[in-house]
Amino acid sequence: MTKNGILCEINDKKILLDPKKTDSDGINFVSHAHMDHLPSKNGGTILSSIETNKIANLRGFTMQNHIEEIADFHLVDSGHILGSKGLLFDDIFYTGDICTRNRGFLQGAKIPKCKTLITECTFGLSEFVFPKIDELKKQVNELISEFYSKGIPVILMGYQLGKAQTITQLFGHWSPLYFHDSVKEMNDLHNQLGVSLIDGLGHSEAQKKGLLDKKPWLMVAPMMSGKNSFLRDMESKYGAITIGFSGWAKSTKFNFGRRTDYSFPMSDHCDFDELVNMVVASGAEKVYTIHGFVEEFAEHLRTLGISAQPLRENSLDDFI
Ligand SMILES: [Zn+2]
Ligand SMILES: [Zn+2]
Repeated sequence: MTKNGILCEINDKKILLDPKKTDSDGINFVSHAHMDHLPSKNGGTILSSIETNKIANLRGFTMQNHIEEIADFHLVDSGHILGSKGLLFDDIFYTGDICTRNRGFLQGAKIPKCKTLITECTFGLSEFVFPKIDELKKQVNELISEFYSKGIPVILMGYQLGKAQTITQLFGHWSPLYFHDSVKEMNDLHNQLGVSLIDGLGHSEAQKKGLLDKKPWLMVAPMMSGKNSFLRDMESKYGAITIGFSGWAKSTKFNFGRRTDYSFPMSDHCDFDELVNMVVASGAEKVYTIHGFVEEFAEHLRTLGISAQPLRENSLDDFI
């Protein structure tokens, strides 16, 4: 682990996993197009899926020297967002951000066998166990139906890339259906990349045409602070209520719930049980934890008899 992310040196090759800055003479693996995984500038070879490259373009980052495959490196679907991959090389599997649960168009990751596993553990505490998607769908549909019957518009909120598309697929049957402009843009790109999502007007156009005055309606919007002028507008002009979707929704340690009127636990990451199952399925002899509850999750794995430790800066020596 270096200041610039995870560096692996194998034979004469340098491999960087989700580096902050790409290395000019290494292979730079970019697992997916969430901002915290996109490198800040170009240089060297960038290995990622074609979808990640296109979404990165939309987000204003052009990946020069982009390649989708290279001998002895296997990109494995990680089920996190469209185009997200883990990397399998030299008996090492790096998960990137990972989810093993099927959600809408996203199929849960299938974990390859490996000797060394480098895994994220965003939700690596036992309190994070998420409800089944069908259960959640039922509860949210009931809530929407309750507000619809009173003529109250509902805004469903989740990250612009990933969650918003899953929300569109799970709840796009409500009508009329609108999208925050930024979600519409991301959904359009998904449609271009072969994920068919129901279409609807963006909020600016709907507002211009006076359609939002005809209540109720459903809108999919990105996660944003309650102070955001768009949300304040929707609440004051149309009396809309908000439902947020996040893995943190029911956490005692993170008061996510206060940002929206209602909140439900749904995530593009594995929950605690899924993380443990994934580690066991990989058959790894050594596990390195990154992102999230690295100490706690490694400790839990050790109680299961699995050799595990957080990957910290300079802890790479015993890893190669
Ligand atoms: Zn991510
Ligand atoms: Zn991430």
